[in-house]
Amino acid sequence: MSDDESSRGGETWIEWFCGLKGHEFFCEVDRRYIEDKFNLYGLRAVIPNYLECLSLILDKTDDDAEPETLQNAIDLYGMIHARYIITTRGLDMMLRKYQIEAFGTCPNVQCHNHPVVPVGTHDDLRFDQVKIYCPKCQNIFKVTTPEGAEELDGAYFGSTFAHLFFLSHPHLAIPSRPKPYVPRVFGYRVHGVGPAREQSAESAGRDSTEQSQVERLKAEVAALKGKLAAITAGEGGGAEDMVLAGAEDDADVQARMKKKRTEAFD
Ligand SMILES: [Zn+2]
Repeated sequence: MSDDESSRGGETWIEWFCGLKGHEFFCEVDRRYIEDKFNLYGLRAVIPNYLECLSLILDKTDDDAEPETLQNAIDLYGMIHARYIITTRGLDMMLRKYQIEAFGTCPNVQCHNHPVVPVGTHDDLRFDQVKIYCPKCQNIFKVTTPEGAEELDGAYFGSTFAHLFFLSHPHLAIPSRPKPYVPRVFGYRVHGVGPAREQSAESAGRDSTEQSQVERLKAEVAALKGKLAAITAGEGGGAEDMVLAGAEDDADVQARMKKKRTEAFD
């Protein structure tokens, strides 16, 4: 433990921890919340020296913690913190921080310094550092300020808080998304640059192929319709005509044969 960390004066462990530089994202979890075992369910299994860490957080020990124990205590506080900030009281405490932009503002220029909230991409420890979520552009970004906050584990804030926060405070709803940035060359809008253009061309080629296939199929359908119409027409008078034609042929042949026989006998 450093001199800074050991000289807490009259502060509680929680006040000291939340007051450290780079810990501005944390709110002070209500002691009574931590003392309720129900709220800590399952944490004993993920935090080594769980009871020692809990004693440290609740100022129930005067002993200086070993660095390893201190890190475990920080993990325990972080995991409790992630649960606390999705309670009504926790959400209100984070709201006050949001209102003074304690979590910083969106680095997206199009968002015009809109305030952000911390967000974890995972709910378990050691997966990823905390990120910031902007409700305006609905993106997450790496933390750049305050210094040191970028090292915090994302699990200390969890993946739910950021979104529950805005659902719980509908008055913070963003009326509109920022206008997308428009790339320009010499003042002219750029359409389909680089890979986008290739993709666009490929897409156009695919569209053109699909279009020609559709045209060919249409032509085939039209031809088939024509044939079908001819056959249908044949079923009406055509077939009968053919039979009659055959009959006429027969009659013609018979008449000629009769004529030949008559000539032969004459
Ligand atoms: Zn933004």
